[in-house]
Amino acid sequence: MLLSSSVQRLRSYTAVRAGSARLARRGYASTAMPPNVNLPQAKTGVPNYALFEQRLAMVRSLVFQDRPMTLAEKILYAHLDSPESLGSTPVRGETYLNLRPDRVAMQDASAPMALQQFALANMPQTAIPASIHCDHLIEAWEGGESDVTHSWQTSRETYEFLQAAAAKYGIAFWKPGAGIIHQIVLENYAAPGTLMVGTDSHTPNAGGLGMLAIGVGGADAVDAMAGIPWELKAPRLLGVQLRGHLGPWCSPKDIILHLVGQLTVKGGTGYIIEYFGEGVNSLSCTGMATICNMGAEVGATTSVFPYGPAMRRYLKATERAKVSEGADWAQSDYLAADAAVQASPEKYYDKVIDIDLSKLEPSFNGPFTPDLNTPLSQIKDAAKTNGWPQDVKAALIGSCTNSSYQDLSRAASIARQAAARGVRVPEGTQFLVAPGSEQIRATMERDGMMEAFEAIGAKKLANACGPCIGQWNRSDEKVVQEKLPNTIVSSFNRNFRARNDGNPNTLNFLTSPEMVMLTALSGKLGFDPEIDTLRDAEGNELNLEPPAGDELPAKGYEAGRAEYQPILKYDSDTEIKYDPNSRYFAPMQPFPRWDGKDYVNLPILIK
Ligand code: SF4
Repeated sequence: MLLSSSVQRLRSYTAVRAGSARLARRGYASTAMPPNVNLPQAKTGVPNYALFEQRLAMVRSLVFQDRPMTLAEKILYAHLDSPESLGSTPVRGETYLNLRPDRVAMQDASAPMALQQFALANMPQTAIPASIHCDHLIEAWEGGESDVTHSWQTSRETYEFLQAAAAKYGIAFWKPGAGIIHQIVLENYAAPGTLMVGTDSHTPNAGGLGMLAIGVGGADAVDAMAGIPWELKAPRLLGVQLRGHLGPWCSPKDIILHLVGQLTVKGGTGYIIEYFGEGVNSLSCTGMATICNMGAEVGATTSVFPYGPAMRRYLKATERAKVSEGADWAQSDYLAADAAVQASPEKYYDKVIDIDLSKLEPSFNGPFTPDLNTPLSQIKDAAKTNGWPQDVKAALIGSCTNSSYQDLSRAASIARQAAARGVRVPEGTQFLVAPGSEQIRATMERDGMMEAFEAIGAKKLANACGPCIGQWNRSDEKVVQEKLPNTIVSSFNRNFRARNDGNPNTLNFLTSPEMVMLTALSGKLGFDPEIDTLRDAEGNELNLEPPAGDELPAKGYEAGRAEYQPILKYDSDTEIKYDPNSRYFAPMQPFPRWDGKDYVNLPILIK
């Protein structure tokens, strides 16, 4: 039955092939791989939508018996290694799928092991495009450039290894200071309907641009780079329907903070979260990326939004108009769930959650876990009840979650109101801002945002992870030296104990950049702009207006400094030098070939 060749199925398959040819003639794609597809790229090329649709049509017809499909299913099954051999309808949560990702992204803490393993494959270059991003090893200390320079002293061996490996295998190399992996991927490599694996848990950020982007371990990335089909258990599907509009003080961060609170840190395990509904249309592309980013906090395989106008605008603004033209062509058939799914979501998703955006309020998740969600209206009482210090020692805007132009422009609009009345961040509260990429830094500086932040006392950090990954030199502070309880607020995505500064008694509350800004200005947890006021330089009350920011820069993005553009070198003769005294790097030796006998009586090292 499943693989029968009924006339109708044959016709539909033939029709798709004809459609592919049409698309190819229009210059969007062809089913043949273009030459040089895996040479290092500064930006993604136009995805092969014709091929995806052709493969999808085969699976739809031969395996799914033409039943309506969700967006996540379409992207997954269009990337099957061998759609012809799937055989029977896959069972979510049980069947293993062999997939062919389009791209790999790696950050500097996880890439070294992956590339040392990849070297064993003895391949002249990676089978698919890949990129390396140096973002995790820069310590936030004196700020900006000085911290990048310092990281070359502390991590030179890693950077040089990665740069040499990138050149040898044809991988794009983004130097320290260029930006955070997920922001760079969104700006340059994410493309609707494509599949990426990344050696970082917040890889799903690219779902904001309609990509199925999955965080994996290094060995999985090696499979993908070596051209071996990558195995994934068919995920269950969680549909999240968004209705209405966010209120003036709310932002996309509040949607995901609310959802994480509902689902808990384990509630998304084994699921892909797929968003749909009219509320999606009110969100920016980078806002959707924020939401997908923190899907990792519920353990979801990944999260994804359907292709729409906000993605089109973002692709054009980031110099990928051709990608948006291709996506426009593929939009209704491939880049959204089928209409029947949207009409009766409960029939096609394993679970459905409905969120009315107009009912959300700004909120704070924490401390010590990202799923303890407290709305702004309740946070003061919760702090008193739980003994959380209400004085805030540090307020941090940044990380891959919330460092877009829109995030920073909305926060800057609050900073400007304060600066105009002589209000500064109070003594005793540190206010730190880390742009997500060199492009964001240059654009926000050109548009006066950094000036607004600095006018109220901000310190600018490098375009990197910094305090989000614990690279925060806070050692001169008493609270850290003596491991005292202290409260910080951040626009980050994770807040497990000691993650940020090594102090297990630092309480980090995750919130939106707008709420971080308000908290910084008041120095108190729970400042509510609809009730509370600031005091200006003359002691008069200052009522803050809701934030106003631009989704995209009106004057376009600035590229930033040339030294932070990617290195796109490919020379397979590049030598990777190993220091015999290195504590980190050594050429790996392959395991001896398996002798065909089972291993028995092996000790269990960890459970
Ligand atoms: Fe990970 Fe934070 Fe860096 Fe994002 S900013 S990649 S969450 S360490």
